[in-house]
Amino acid sequence: MGRREDNAKKAVELMKDQNLIRNLGTAAHIDHGKTTFSDNLIAGAGMMSSETAGEQRLLDYDEQEAARGITINAASAAMVVPYRDPKTNELKHYLVNLIDTPGHVDFGGDVTRAMRALDGVYILCCAVEGIMPQTETVIRQAMKERVRPMLFINKVDRAIVEQQLTPQMMIEKFSKIITQFNQKIMDILPAPLNKQWQVSLQDGTVALGSAYNNWAVSIPYLSRPEVNKRAMDLVPEMKDKLAAKPFNLNTVFELCAMDGGQEKLAKIIPIADVALEMAINHIPNPVDAQKIRIPTIWKGDLNSDLGKQMLNCDPNGEVALMVTKIIMDKQAGEIAIGRLFSGTVKKGMTLYISGMPAPQRVQTVALMVGADRTPIEECKAGNIVAVTGLKDAIAGSTVSSLKDMEPFEKMTHYSEPVITKAIEAKSMADLPKLVEVLRVIAKADPSLSIEINNETGEHLMSGMGELHLEITEYRIINEQGVDIISSPPIVVYQESVKGPNPSEFEGKSPNKHNKFYFIVEPLEEGVQEAIHKGDIDTDAKIKDPKELAKVLVDCGMNVDEAKGVVGFKNNNVLIDCTKGIQYLHETMELVKQAFEEAMMRGPLANEKVAGVKVKLMDAKLHEDTIHRGPAQIIPAVRDGIYGAMCQAGRILLEPMQKIFISVPPDYMGGAVNLINQRRGTILEMGQDGADSTVTAKCPVADMFGFSSDIRGSTQGRAIWSIENAGFERLMPDLQKKVVTEIRTRKGLNPEPYDEKYYSGL
Ligand code: GDP
Repeated sequence: MGRREDNAKKAVELMKDQNLIRNLGTAAHIDHGKTTFSDNLIAGAGMMSSETAGEQRLLDYDEQEAARGITINAASAAMVVPYRDPKTNELKHYLVNLIDTPGHVDFGGDVTRAMRALDGVYILCCAVEGIMPQTETVIRQAMKERVRPMLFINKVDRAIVEQQLTPQMMIEKFSKIITQFNQKIMDILPAPLNKQWQVSLQDGTVALGSAYNNWAVSIPYLSRPEVNKRAMDLVPEMKDKLAAKPFNLNTVFELCAMDGGQEKLAKIIPIADVALEMAINHIPNPVDAQKIRIPTIWKGDLNSDLGKQMLNCDPNGEVALMVTKIIMDKQAGEIAIGRLFSGTVKKGMTLYISGMPAPQRVQTVALMVGADRTPIEECKAGNIVAVTGLKDAIAGSTVSSLKDMEPFEKMTHYSEPVITKAIEAKSMADLPKLVEVLRVIAKADPSLSIEINNETGEHLMSGMGELHLEITEYRIINEQGVDIISSPPIVVYQESVKGPNPSEFEGKSPNKHNKFYFIVEPLEEGVQEAIHKGDIDTDAKIKDPKELAKVLVDCGMNVDEAKGVVGFKNNNVLIDCTKGIQYLHETMELVKQAFEEAMMRGPLANEKVAGVKVKLMDAKLHEDTIHRGPAQIIPAVRDGIYGAMCQAGRILLEPMQKIFISVPPDYMGGAVNLINQRRGTILEMGQDGADSTVTAKCPVADMFGFSSDIRGSTQGRAIWSIENAGFERLMPDLQKKVVTEIRTRKGLNPEPYDEKYYSGL
């Protein structure tokens, strides 16, 4: 039996005792060492040789990832690891399911999804750079999913060897990182968790170390007697000193600075042991974790049978699985990976996928280690599992043995697509294959949106940034074998209104027998934010209008309007303000459909509409159903909404990015100039140790090529990162030019239609 099969067999054994399971992840700002750290844990489990742990990087299995040296897929590994309890000296084995999440801003959606599968997360933070914007983002994401954080301060070797910090300076620096980290937890979580989940060096929820050099230290680990013994054996020249004062933090710093000292540290305080101890002592097993997590990630009735089964992580309950990732396998096809919150998944079982009418059969059940899958007979609640056969599942699907399970909370993304590329197959013969590949890719990566441009027949692929699209293209060409040509990246805009329009706008049906009267205006900020954060689920059917009205009023909407909300599309709302109009009830589905279509393509530039409140004020309908079919109602409603938008004043919104730069003070001028040249605004300037920092906001449209420019103007001395920062109104003087450009590109009349056109004059 090979090592992987052996591992899988032991893993299946361990599933029976949920106390022995930990679902863990790593998350960090890009380059802070997540992958190197994860590899160490895998090596610690004997699944990869420890000498190569710094370099081999099992989890970066995508060729593309390896080439770029960043983690794109949230890969997973199921490992059986031995752990000797220092108190009882008893040797136990644990089943650790480990996920390494991506660290680039373009892949934020993937991080949120990976968090759903976890109960605990090592958040890595580079000792030199400290807490970076993406570190804060991953803390936020973990807190939102109620995933218990641990802090690992990495690259301590660099602080010692390169920066030559004294132990005192280091302790000060690390204390600052810990304080900042705890402050975030305090701010985000409700009591009492915000206090319970604070991290500290003393209790071992914080560790320091060097993932690259395979060592780490935590205060509890230092008190193990074998640590001092190993040190005495491996560093005989320190024997007397260690006899007087046992191995401590200062000895770690001292050894790290010595030639060959780090190899010794790797044997005295091996990173995998230290990290494992943190998780075993501080991360709840799935049963305890689910008691905290289920109430936040599932809004069904906690007192129902299923609610209780999930709270108890019951392997004998109904199957409740949340798919967090879809990967493509040449042989097996689509593999759904996810967290099993209750029940047992077995081969041959029939399961329902949320939103899909027909159930599907589980073909295989497996555990994942990097790119390898090891088949197993069944997987029990509390684990991360890979399943084939669930063709309709997408990343984010709820899968259950119950037909009508209330789905898990939608996983919210902090970013929306900001960039589009048009792609087409190089050879016409490849077109059907391209269509199929795009379908699967869109399923696997919900932060990617694929549309067909009906005018040109091209496929439009929109994503969270340049890199996100580049990597998707790479996958289409190299992994799926379809040669494509792509356009340069184009910025995604949105349309909105200044509004309200001064008087109700009338939209008439082509037969003139049906009339709809609309007012449009900007949607309350509070409501937009609640939609954005996922507090209002706009995809779900409105089940309880009273409850919804309450939420909307809390967000700032007036009571009468809130009671009339009948539909959502993206962050736009349709409100029925009419009273007692005959036949309107029968026509409402068509009105909603027309509203949704109008919100997908605005009247200004055919871009998506955002942040608009559409109020139906009045309607006149023909008494005969024949005269109010879709061909009459849809154009009438659409023209009514479009015309109202013209009157209300159409505006274009553009995506923005927040940029954080840290540079030696001499280069600050160059960095600030660069921002000014790009229509940027400086939000904050400050100091971080010897470096100057600046936070700024720039339109995405002006960010192309930023990375090479900043390298040039600061001689590569800048540490910088970007984050998508929502949409803002485009400067009015630029609007006409941009609208004309978009319309021309889309093959439309360069000048948008005006209200006269929509009133049929
Ligand atoms: P990720 O983007 O967070 O997954 O980071 P990686 O694990 O890919 O590491 C980024 C870079 O930092 C790589 O070149 C690593 O070799 C290096 N690195 C990681 N950990 C350490 C460390 O503890 N010390 C030093 N000096 N370099 C490290």
